[in-house]
Amino acid sequence: MNEHDSETISGMLQQRGYTQIPDRETSDIAIINTCSVRENADKRFFGTLGQLKKIKVQNPEFVACVCGCMMQQEHIINAVKQKYPWVDIIFGTHNIHEFPDMLDELFAAREKQKASAEKERADVETAAYPADRRGYNIAKHDVRSAKDTRVVRVYDDKKEIIEGLPAKRLFRHKSFVNIMYGCNNFCTYCIVPYTRGREKSRRPEDILNEIRRLTQDDVKEVTLLGQNVNSYKGIAENGREWDFTDLIYALQEVDGLQRIRFMTSHPKDLSDRLIRAFVECEKLCNYIHLPVQSGSTTVLQRMNRHYTREQYIELVQKLRDAVPDIAISTDIIVGFPGETEEEFADTLTLAELIRYDSAFTFLYSIRKGTPAAEYGDQIPETVKHERFGRLVDIMNACSRQKNAAYVGRTEKVLIEGVSKKGSDTLTGRTDSFKLVDFPGELSLIGQIRDVKITDSNTFSLKGELID
Ligand code: SAH
Ligand code: SF4
Repeated sequence: MNEHDSETISGMLQQRGYTQIPDRETSDIAIINTCSVRENADKRFFGTLGQLKKIKVQNPEFVACVCGCMMQQEHIINAVKQKYPWVDIIFGTHNIHEFPDMLDELFAAREKQKASAEKERADVETAAYPADRRGYNIAKHDVRSAKDTRVVRVYDDKKEIIEGLPAKRLFRHKSFVNIMYGCNNFCTYCIVPYTRGREKSRRPEDILNEIRRLTQDDVKEVTLLGQNVNSYKGIAENGREWDFTDLIYALQEVDGLQRIRFMTSHPKDLSDRLIRAFVECEKLCNYIHLPVQSGSTTVLQRMNRHYTREQYIELVQKLRDAVPDIAISTDIIVGFPGETEEEFADTLTLAELIRYDSAFTFLYSIRKGTPAAEYGDQIPETVKHERFGRLVDIMNACSRQKNAAYVGRTEKVLIEGVSKKGSDTLTGRTDSFKLVDFPGELSLIGQIRDVKITDSNTFSLKGELID
């Protein structure tokens, strides 16, 4: 979600004639887009922000901007204003569309400030003030506070969804597409409903038109984004309500679109109709990210997840009955408040039972303002780390085995670009979202080609093109 927000911010700036450069030190504007989901990101944000001060010292015209869901929290904005008074623009996730206007506002305020400083200097000189005040020049100040020119826009989420914003895509042939914003689920550990607000779905026509435009621009694959795509409820122009599966069936008919993915889908809302769509819609990829969070029913209850361990297992079984080779990944939180050794053991046995293709494992992190932050029985860090290590070992062994089973198979791969391994190696994804590296010509980028898998490791596959 944040990456896609960054694409939108880049797209808007590019439309105004700005260019993205890799080197922060020589930039005129730097924007830090933040994530509030876990504490680690918080810490990294303040560290990175501190580094911008050096640029500001050298170049007082430099514009420092911070945005993203951390800025939807009042205590964070106050901390930025107090500890980093030179930050010029602060905006939240609901104000992204206003960013170019905020820049204009800042530049206008700076001009005004300069003009009044000039005037003050002229007054000072004519009034023959003491010598040490003569020649007062704001540009000579080390890092001046941006207090008088600072632009801050953080709204609540009552506003309508803003359509039609440009985006500078991270990838040429695949794209993220938001279908909804916000979340109504209030899992007790999670900050998202407080920062991103309540669920709001885009109109189906707006989504379809955006995707049609993307396919005309050579996009072959879209990933539909939402905190819980299963609760998508879009009202069409004719007043009909569309659910998520309606959207998938409509996308199946879009010319030029070859692959559909989505994330994330909450297990409590995954419908039988969506499972059927995996079978009937050939463009819907054989892959699902299905966050379980914990293998223990009692922990799931305390997390407010609205499903049990047994219901989750049953759901996976249904998916596998319908689509036997579906790849499944998950999110798991280790060390949720009060998690006993027995409850954690349930997560380990669930992981062994389900045998995920891949997993994102997280140490529980206290998020101020969420119910779980107030729970008294927080787990010591050492215990969390020890449990985390055990879980990761199981998950990695499983990913390795799952990947090894691909060796010898031929997979359709959407060729995304050049691999990090070198310019003569291409990289792409299988239908099941496995990363594959293989030798090939740059001209193949953007095509879906057959690749024979020749080798595997924990996180990726190697292969060779079949002509
Ligand atoms: N809407 C998505 C998840 C968004 S947050 C969903 O429900 O699947 C992405 C992941 O971050 C979550 O699935 C969860 O595993 C993790 N996460 C969220 N809050 C967390 C916290 N306080 N501590 C640790 N992990 C957390
Ligand atoms: Fe957070 Fe739960 Fe909403 Fe996902 S579904 S964003 S974990 S509250």
